[in-house]
Amino acid sequence: MKVIILSNTKYKENDVIFNAISETETLSFKAFRGQDNKAQIVWLNNPLTIAEVEFSDRRYKHPTLKDANLVFSPFTGNNSLENLYSISFITEVTNQMFQDEEKYLLFKDIEGALKAIDGGKDILLVSLIFLAHAIKYAGAELEINQCVFCGKTNDIVTFSFPDGGFVCRNCAEEMMNNDLSPNQMRLIRYIFKSPDYSCVQGEKYSKEDKIVVFKHLKEYVKDDLGVYLNSVDTLIK
Ligand SMILES: [Zn+2]
Repeated sequence: MKVIILSNTKYKENDVIFNAISETETLSFKAFRGQDNKAQIVWLNNPLTIAEVEFSDRRYKHPTLKDANLVFSPFTGNNSLENLYSISFITEVTNQMFQDEEKYLLFKDIEGALKAIDGGKDILLVSLIFLAHAIKYAGAELEINQCVFCGKTNDIVTFSFPDGGFVCRNCAEEMMNNDLSPNQMRLIRYIFKSPDYSCVQGEKYSKEDKIVVFKHLKEYVKDDLGVYLNSVDTLIK
């Protein structure tokens, strides 16, 4: 079973409980940390490590690790400061925006984002796509296909975070404060619709565009979900 490690805690004298997600569930399992075993699985202690694990057939109280093989570690490749900021952002979104039993929803996205970061993709863009997908899974999706008020699909002129989506020219007439540029609105649509982390045509968006959208999404997550994402500030510095 392929899992992503989220955290671990010491259990009794020598054992450790790992919290992890698979593609279909959030799970925890125990590993005996005897002298022999300790060195072999020490890499498993890094959060966001992806591993192929096998559990013992014997019936213990917790599923118990029999064997583990490293699939991907976020800390063996390019460990620039930017990469580390992005990794801690992914960790924060996962831990703060989701209850334990929902975290597995992020499996594909964590895997895709980590590999994209490791592969040298634009950190800000990858992080934005990750956040947009997380917002969707958290049930706070923004309307990016039509006017949030009247459903019109053309003549979209602004974006309203408080109202949750695009707004057409008619509906926007009474609204104030459109501080997003057309390209920034396109970026919002791009990150919500992006099926993966290949970042195709991502170069169309400037660093400034990404920072502006990031600030708005951070506010939106705070207002709509009550979650304060501290790591965004470091990421967009
Ligand atoms: Zn409208």
